Amino acid sequence: MPIKTNIIEIRKELTREVTLVCVSKFHPNVDIIEAYNEGERVFGESKVQELCGKYERLPKDIHWHFIGHLQTNKVKQIVSFIELIHGVDSLKLLLEIDKQALRTGRIVDCLLQVHIATEETKFGFSADEIRMAIKEVQNFKNVRIRGLMGMATFTENKEQVKNEFHFLKSLFDELRAIASTEFSILSMGMSDDFELAIEEGSTMVRVGSSIFGHRNYEQ
Ligand SMILES: *Cc1c(COP(=O)(O)O)cnc(C)c1O
Repeated sequence: MPIKTNIIEIRKELTREVTLVCVSKFHPNVDIIEAYNEGERVFGESKVQELCGKYERLPKDIHWHFIGHLQTNKVKQIVSFIELIHGVDSLKLLLEIDKQALRTGRIVDCLLQVHIATEETKFGFSADEIRMAIKEVQNFKNVRIRGLMGMATFTENKEQVKNEFHFLKSLFDELRAIASTEFSILSMGMSDDFELAIEEGSTMVRVGSSIFGHRNYEQ
């Protein structure tokens, strides 16, 4: 299906309070422009180099989100323009973002990634680690913790996915009670499970292949 049609279909599923992040990783600039022309302004990328290239060439009113696993030594390349970093999974990374943000005179919005899936390969803090981290992060002056992000297990089992989202939502509510008022974003849901994620309380979905089609990792 054309990108335009896909976006219209997805928009029908979204309630007004849910932000759509169009995950454009591995897709060319022409595809992004097509979505942009449909009114989309929030795009997600997972590789620093690819993101920087797209940022340079594409319209400056695009809000770029980093959704991948961010390496500490690459923070400085994106810190001057990134709108939201979804996958913060260590205090070491947060410390580096804080340091680089200070250097550029910005306050950078971040989400803490929680490990909710059963797969070992996925990144993120455990619930207990987050509970401890949430206190320490108050000391960082140039990062603002806006909420949580999580990825469910890659499985056909809807019940399991639902339970994982439910767990993340309850952790989010628990922390919301003690965190700052800016702690208001719950990033969960991708192409295969964003409807379920919204039912479970997501405020931000990251949708790639349902908009742009299959990704070609070989290119
Ligand atoms: C690639 C990616 C997505 C989008 O995945 P789709 O299944 O194509 O919608 C969402 N979130 C993260 C963290 C990703 O890496």
